[in-house]
Amino acid sequence: MTIPPSSTSGDTPYCNVCGSPRLVERYLGHQRCEACGTTRWRNPIPVGEAVIVRDGRVLLIQRGDVERSPGRWTVPGGFIGLGETPPAAAAREASEEAGVIARVLGLAAIPRLLPTPDGRGHIVLSFLAATEEEAHPRDEVATVCWCAPDEVPWDDLAFSTTEALLRGLLARSPDPRRFAATALDVATAEVVSGRTARPLPRFCAQCSGGLVADTTGIWHCSRCAAWHYENPRPTAGLLALRDHRVLLGRRREGVPGAGLWAAPSGHAEPGEAPERTAARELAEETGVRATAERLVGLFWDREHFEAVYAGAAIEGDTRAEHRPEFTALEWFDRASLPPVEALHHSAPHTTDWLVRQGLVR
Ligand SMILES: [Zn+2]
Ligand SMILES: [Zn+2]
Repeated sequence: MTIPPSSTSGDTPYCNVCGSPRLVERYLGHQRCEACGTTRWRNPIPVGEAVIVRDGRVLLIQRGDVERSPGRWTVPGGFIGLGETPPAAAAREASEEAGVIARVLGLAAIPRLLPTPDGRGHIVLSFLAATEEEAHPRDEVATVCWCAPDEVPWDDLAFSTTEALLRGLLARSPDPRRFAATALDVATAEVVSGRTARPLPRFCAQCSGGLVADTTGIWHCSRCAAWHYENPRPTAGLLALRDHRVLLGRRREGVPGAGLWAAPSGHAEPGEAPERTAARELAEETGVRATAERLVGLFWDREHFEAVYAGAAIEGDTRAEHRPEFTALEWFDRASLPPVEALHHSAPHTTDWLVRQGLVR
């Protein structure tokens, strides 16, 4: 994947929405502008990658003379731009880096955190894709390879997430000499959350010069030429299970989806893996503890994506008066689940998946 340095992660002297230098540090390195009220979040940056398997071989690219892991091997991938969906980013990277038009089939691997030196981290979303075209190295790619498992340069892979992805594909293959072309059995969907649009950057965070839009989610400074990235923010949620019932909360007034039932969910902190975000948000919002045991699905709108997990509740009570996110918390079995129109965001998809898997009865 092409990972250029981001000028907007970490300390910057100017607000890139209004150009003001009145930035104050908040918790975990997030910055807030006192002039316009915008917060610069330091969530992990989402990466979309395309896993193209044909005749049991996977399309790998060898990275060229790039800053991170030059000469090493991975699959086509890169940052997901604000306003772009994760599958669209994966398909775009397949085109930009390997010259192929690819059709996304489903999720190829569970979302994984790739640690980065600035502590912010990337969350890698891998999509299985298909193409009938020949691949050619493009952009900052040196060579391409349709590699069978015994041809993969296992000691020369670019990222820990690349190796985990390829080993997962092999584990799902009935034939160890071929990569499987099967997607994970999880729900994926674009959902409309009713959130408000984020203010777009207009000023350089380094020098306060004017920004020029480049491609999706990328701007450059007309004065100092620094690059700026705006990406969807990662969120994660956890559906706690107990006696084949699932815990949902009724959203309070003043938030999108007020009055509707939803899974506890929230934003990833810097360097936080999605399954940890999911467990933390569940505990904070409901008082119930569970670990994210299974991926239920991946959902997205143009400004966020959400990884939802399920796991058995270990302990905790659900007294709603201590939980300001929800006005009520309830355990639902199959017969008592709220109707679809009373479910928020990804909850129609996730509850349907839980029932189909027999986890809610
Ligand atoms: Zn500002
Ligand atoms: Zn600048």
